[in-house]
Amino acid sequence: MIDLTSSLKERIFVKYDYACQKCGFRDESCEDIVVHVVAKEFRDRTCTEDLLTVLCKICDRFAPQEEKYFNTYISEKIDSNVLETFRKAGRGTSKRTKKGMEKAKAEGKYIGRAPYGYILVDGRLVVDEKKMKIVQAIFADARRGLGLREIGRTYGISAPGVKKILENKVYSA
Ligand SMILES: [Zn+2]
Repeated sequence: MIDLTSSLKERIFVKYDYACQKCGFRDESCEDIVVHVVAKEFRDRTCTEDLLTVLCKICDRFAPQEEKYFNTYISEKIDSNVLETFRKAGRGTSKRTKKGMEKAKAEGKYIGRAPYGYILVDGRLVVDEKKMKIVQAIFADARRGLGLREIGRTYGISAPGVKKILENKVYSA
């Protein structure tokens, strides 16, 4: 797995002068460009910088994963102006998503999947009595010193699943 540290990313951005290698779009704020890993199926091989390139978010979205197709893809240059309309539309969507999440938070609505023992009703967590009894039993078992795996086996939940339940602050609130 290639670990793209922020300093490595920065180095790649500078190397390619903050420009998408397909359409030439430049963005020094780095908000609309990404470091693209060529040939994802080789992710576990030693990362050399020539496997990394810079693409704008639009060109990145359509980039083929296979190296040979990718090389063709990136050699077919396009005019970044052609993509402007997609860029604008994309920005609008992410802004709307962000706004929607902020609104939900402000209204005290729960964002994400309901934790075990709850169901989501109109953005609010509602207790699922049957499953909450299991949650309580899991906490009781943990207090008695039973291991994660042992507890998991009893209730048909994986050990990491049990751990997640025990660590979730939603149950202690
Ligand atoms: Zn591009």
